[in-house]
Amino acid sequence: MRIVLLGAPGSGKGTQAKKLMAEKNIPQISTGDMLRAAVAAGSRFGVQAKKIMDAGNLVSDDIMLGIISERLSEPDTEDGFILDGFPRTEQQALDLSDLLDEMGKPLDCAVLMDVDFEILIKRLTGRRTCSLTGKLLNVYFSSQAELDACTDAGGELVQREDDNEEVIKNRLEVYRTQTEPVVSYYRKRGKLETVDADGTIDEVYGRFTRVLGIA
Ligand code: AMP
Repeated sequence: MRIVLLGAPGSGKGTQAKKLMAEKNIPQISTGDMLRAAVAAGSRFGVQAKKIMDAGNLVSDDIMLGIISERLSEPDTEDGFILDGFPRTEQQALDLSDLLDEMGKPLDCAVLMDVDFEILIKRLTGRRTCSLTGKLLNVYFSSQAELDACTDAGGELVQREDDNEEVIKNRLEVYRTQTEPVVSYYRKRGKLETVDADGTIDEVYGRFTRVLGIA
């Protein structure tokens, strides 16, 4: 299975991709995670990428194509992959199409995780990661017991640097202007499936696997 996951920041793409990866044993390829790893490694590229990411802007299409072509040439992608966060511009969608054509591995479909704007804002401003376990939590949606489990064990609820309100506004604007055309790109080619992504993780996962025909 070769799929692209689309959706605004906070739409739950990453969460759903991780669940599918665990169930189907195909890699989730998150360009955001790959860029954060480069930032953490402190390379020169990482330092440049951090500035762009902290402002909520996009890393250039050329750099992203290099990163993704290298990743897709790794053997664990033989039986499929879930692209999470790529493509994010129409140019990236065109580049991906050329790359996959060359590899003889066309996409099965693109799946749009569709959520209302108000919910996105709460998901993003409330999002935290437990510093001990890496578990994703949300101060609006997680239970008090889940939040306490992290802090009682001595962990901290860490907020991503690009999850503050100012940057979130820009990320949503960048999504509207640069990434929504990618949704149209796949729709025009008859490759788009849409999932109502408002609901619990399991409810959304049920809808997601139904559109993929694997429920
Ligand atoms: P994410 O974790 O997917 O929200 O990505 C975090 C940040 O990484 C984004 O706000 C961008 O700055 C950068 N990024 C991730 N994927 C891409 C991409 N495909 N093209 C350009 N920038 C990206």
